[in-house]
Amino acid sequence: MVKVLKFGGSSLADAEQFKKVAAIIKAEPERRYVVASAPGKRFLDDIKVTDMLYDCYKLVKANQPIDDAFKLIEDRYNGIIKDLGMKLWLQPEFDRIKNAIVHHAGRDYIASRGEYLNSMVLAGYLGYDFIDAEDGIFFKENGTLDEEKTNEELTAILANHEHAVIPGFYGVMPNGTIKTFSRGGSDITGSIVARAIKADIYENWTDVSGMLMADPRCVENPKVIETITYAELRELSYMGATVMHEDAIFPVREMGIPINIRNTNAPEDNGTMIVPSVESNKVDTIITGVAGKKGFSVICIEKDMMNSEVGFGRTVLEVLENHNLCFEHLPSGIDTMSVVVNDADFLKNKDAIINDIQRRTKADSITVNGGIALIAVVGRGMAGSKGTAGRLFKAIAEGDINIRMIDQGSSELNIIVGIDEEDYVKALNAIYHEFVK
Ligand code: ADP
Ligand code: ASP
Ligand code: MG
Repeated sequence: MVKVLKFGGSSLADAEQFKKVAAIIKAEPERRYVVASAPGKRFLDDIKVTDMLYDCYKLVKANQPIDDAFKLIEDRYNGIIKDLGMKLWLQPEFDRIKNAIVHHAGRDYIASRGEYLNSMVLAGYLGYDFIDAEDGIFFKENGTLDEEKTNEELTAILANHEHAVIPGFYGVMPNGTIKTFSRGGSDITGSIVARAIKADIYENWTDVSGMLMADPRCVENPKVIETITYAELRELSYMGATVMHEDAIFPVREMGIPINIRNTNAPEDNGTMIVPSVESNKVDTIITGVAGKKGFSVICIEKDMMNSEVGFGRTVLEVLENHNLCFEHLPSGIDTMSVVVNDADFLKNKDAIINDIQRRTKADSITVNGGIALIAVVGRGMAGSKGTAGRLFKAIAEGDINIRMIDQGSSELNIIVGIDEEDYVKALNAIYHEFVK
């Protein structure tokens, strides 16, 4: 039996956390491969090392010195090393990295050094081998993971190491430069390692006792989800349940390796099991969880007889494609089509996009409603169960909240509602308390 463990930033934020992590790993001989994040926050207003590294990048871009900013990073690691009573001397590494940053190293390379250094410290502390992710995790030219090459080479490397620590968050491009996943991407590395070694389980250790039914920062004391399917997890994490990166299920999905989210600060808790599927007779709740995100706009396009105009939708989507913009949802009426888009990408080119849609479709009117939050109510128990939507909308209405958009996937795994951003926390609570007694 082999277990792969990933520890998040807060689990490795200081020496006390390192000690908890080591105790967890040493508690079971199967816990042989460990993926580490960069040191995270020790307290609410603390700064993650990854963010400190991004700051260094910005300073260099602005032609500012990085000495003070980089010294803070060195201090974080040296503090951990000293408090653990280790004799590790990372100065040559610091010097090399600082020199690279000053000489305009890439943004991703700079960000990746947080996990690189932390994994060296953890490997030294545990007496495990250090395997650099750049030797075993490969991206393709287009920036997506080269799954085949990664799996093949990583499997071969791991076979030579009984125990190892591998830094999360990054891999290497075909031209040898370092590339990171998006934020929170160490979860993906853990999944890649689990697949390469054909692990029996992938344990993802963090600072909460599992995936909770709602964001604990918005709903008081939400219940832990005991079991969740890959598909449900992806819906919830994509929609803002940030405890797990939404892409982390892909590497393990094919092999059906379960993921167990666990709490480094409460290792006795069972946490959440993420599994390929759950027998339908084991569904005991209608909803599995609720999550949401702010920062969306709805582009509403109206045109008489739109319903009979062949290719109308394609024209609209082509405009988005030309502007390199993804859409989130497409709720439509007979003569209206709405496109929900993410503000972060949309607002950069808003006027050009609207003009292009107008020019290409000759729409009667186009309006944009900004300030929208989306909430996803997710649950395998919703499929076929009657009255769920009714209860959901009633709960939102009783919270005196106006619904701006509704979308239900045909899989009946989720219902998505769009509301004004200021109603976000109120709506989450109304929904949670309707379904969780
Ligand atoms: P790590 O550094 O271990 O990767 P993250 O900060 O990425 O940890 O994820 C854990 C955090 O996710 C929790 O502390 C919590 O604030 C937040 N979170 C948001 N939604 C949820 C949810 N539904 N369940 C659990 N945690 C959630
Ligand atoms: N350290 C990276 C981040 O802060 C990756 C991770 O923690 O998973 O996003
Ligand atoms: Mg994370």
